[in-house]
Amino acid sequence: MQPLNDSTKGIVRDRSLTALLLAWYTVEKRDLSWRKAKNPYPIWVSEVMLQQTQVKTVIPYYELFLQRFPSVEQLAKARLEDVLIVWSGLGYYSRARRMWEGARYICEQCGGKMPEDFEALLRVPGIGVYTAGAIASIAFGQRVAAIDGNVLRVVSRLLAWSEPVETARSYRHFNDHLMVWQPVLRPGDFNQALMELGAMICTPTKPNCESCPLTQICEGYLQGEVHLYPVKKLKAKRQVVTRLTFVLRRGERVLLQRRPTQGLLADLWEFPGVELSHEDGLDNNLPALGYEEWFEFFQKAVPERAFDGQVKERFEQGLRVHGPVWYNFSHRRWKICWVIVDLPEPLETKPGAGFLLSESVLEYRLESKPVDQLVDNRCWVSLQNLSEIPLPVAFKAIVEDLREGVTA
Ligand code: SF4
Repeated sequence: MQPLNDSTKGIVRDRSLTALLLAWYTVEKRDLSWRKAKNPYPIWVSEVMLQQTQVKTVIPYYELFLQRFPSVEQLAKARLEDVLIVWSGLGYYSRARRMWEGARYICEQCGGKMPEDFEALLRVPGIGVYTAGAIASIAFGQRVAAIDGNVLRVVSRLLAWSEPVETARSYRHFNDHLMVWQPVLRPGDFNQALMELGAMICTPTKPNCESCPLTQICEGYLQGEVHLYPVKKLKAKRQVVTRLTFVLRRGERVLLQRRPTQGLLADLWEFPGVELSHEDGLDNNLPALGYEEWFEFFQKAVPERAFDGQVKERFEQGLRVHGPVWYNFSHRRWKICWVIVDLPEPLETKPGAGFLLSESVLEYRLESKPVDQLVDNRCWVSLQNLSEIPLPVAFKAIVEDLREGVTA
């Protein structure tokens, strides 16, 4: 018998890889709700939620999301506020906002039906190359790759690829191989199988090669150098900033304001605050600021000037700074410190009254749901109603403090 040449060996390896991987997936795949879906919408929801988030965290959010917004139309009709509330706690809120925009686009431009083709899916706001590949292959059986972090890791080990995986060249190289390996009949299963292998076996720090179906053809394993892959670019250091936070409290209510529509935590609500970027250490010391500096920062954080007199008086009487608690974003780390400022209930408007707290800041009421109609993007919210507002998890410790009746 003739020995196999390199090209024949490659063909044998490619075919074996596909067959071994699909056979493994058929038996070992986890029973996840979205895997039963044939409709592209739940697949879209799950793929967006699974980006940067673990399966066990996603499951309850996925179920709740589909209960609240069971179709593209329902999602498109919903208020952004309500979508963000259901998403609250899952992080990376821009994903929810982009999906909502995408649903509106589908209803306005595609008659409410999700496009069935990879290229057309890419035109939907919020659907990028990975998500389009996942939907097109899983829901519509199109032969197209879906390369996420799991797939990058697995393929880099299979090929013993010695370049950083984040580059366009690596992406093209992996895509070329995947298009050879992906079968005509089960492209969606093939993509999911690779993701599943990355999640269950070929994990980031301790790949369980002993249980892997691909040991005979994995170059990284055969060379005994799995630990070298994936090669990654050096990461920029997370910027650490101190987030001074002002909790204005009137009895049971606190003042919240909406963040800008662009950037970090876009469109979510917050306790007003400012970021001090001169922080360069990771210590737990509270900022050493005088009351005048605190007051200056308060004026930057809260555009409403009606509270100045009361707040200044409170600061002069003495400040108790709470925290810090730490919260990590992808590129930034907040060291959150806060002060609670108790304000008196507003006086009735009376001609000739000595002073008056402005009531241009509206009160949030559940029954009238005015949050998205507020012109100045600030409102008073009772502690009971806080869960009705899309408030980032970063402020969880503050809310807990308030619920426990922590004093100023
Ligand atoms: S053999 Fe090991 S490194 Fe290679 S794909 Fe399997 S788990 Fe990953």
